[in-house]
Amino acid sequence: MIPFADLKRQYQDIKSEIDQCIKSSLENTNFIGGSEIQKFENDFAKYLNINHCVACANGTDSIEILLKALGVGNGDEVIVPAISWISTSEAVSSTGAKPIFVDVDPDFYTICTKLIEEKITNKTKAIIPVHLYGYPANMKHIMKIARKYDLKVLEDCAQAHGANIDGKMVGTFGDAASFSFYPGKNLGAYGDAGGMVSNNEKIALKARKIANHGQVTKHNHIIEGRNSRLDALQASILNVKLPYLTKWIKKRNTIASQYIREIKNSKLKLPVLETNFHHAFHLFVIRCKSRDSLIKYLNENGIGSSIHYPKALPFLNCYKHLNYNSGDFPISFKYQNQILSIPMFPELQSTEIRKIINVLNEF
Ligand SMILES: *Cc1c(COP(=O)(O)O)cnc(C)c1O
Repeated sequence: MIPFADLKRQYQDIKSEIDQCIKSSLENTNFIGGSEIQKFENDFAKYLNINHCVACANGTDSIEILLKALGVGNGDEVIVPAISWISTSEAVSSTGAKPIFVDVDPDFYTICTKLIEEKITNKTKAIIPVHLYGYPANMKHIMKIARKYDLKVLEDCAQAHGANIDGKMVGTFGDAASFSFYPGKNLGAYGDAGGMVSNNEKIALKARKIANHGQVTKHNHIIEGRNSRLDALQASILNVKLPYLTKWIKKRNTIASQYIREIKNSKLKLPVLETNFHHAFHLFVIRCKSRDSLIKYLNENGIGSSIHYPKALPFLNCYKHLNYNSGDFPISFKYQNQILSIPMFPELQSTEIRKIINVLNEF
């Protein structure tokens, strides 16, 4: 079986370094805060070429905390794409604001920038572009709209570590950006982990305060915050992995190029790439009108696959009360029955890639 994803292979490749860092973490008993956290924050900020990084407990928290740091709260509206993982809209609701869904671009799956302005009201406070599947949203258009209407921009980079437009990393275009280091992401910890980045010192300090019980110094609680710290053990694992990230993303791109070059089947729609938009290929998503028989065919041939996501956000049960219908988000509605993610991880073997391509071409 060729698995859809396989975290064991990566661990095997870096086992001695990982085992050593876990051992030292246990021996020095520095479990919260400390030098591993600082090192990760510094190195990840350097990787993105951004001024500030604040580690936190997970990617969902990073969105919610940054929204609060940007001043989003009760009664506000925040524009989000109709296709994403639920964290994007869930975090908006957690602040007391309302997520306003916008359909996605039919070619790129990211928020359709042509449809944003019609959703802006006097309550709109922010836009959350999601660099979905690892592909950069059109930040030039989004920043232009944000400036015109004086809106904050929070980039959801959970799937897009390393993606860039013309060499400028995603996460550095907006007012702030959130990252997830969930195990399966391009850079993943061995448990939950997240990061918040910004070039704005005030936003970074506010986010840091909120994530650590509103403290500026120990026992000096300026506001009520919460506990959303990153464990030092997870930070030490991320410190081992970060130096490999560029190589891993390159590997993902090499595999993607081969898929794009060699998958030739008119039943399958492959990712479309714009010049200067550099995909991080967290996921390799294709579309097929007979998706369910494709899944079955892949399965019969020993190839794993997955769907991201079976339902677009507005059509999830938790938003049923909003009474959206297919016509409100026609692209997202159509695509939720067509999209399929095929195996994409740096450790895929060339024989496996060959087989995946052959099986897809035979379908
Ligand atoms: C994974 C993910 C998140 C949330 O990350 P967690 O660390 O799992 O909380 C947010 N947004 C998107 C688009 C994601 O894929």
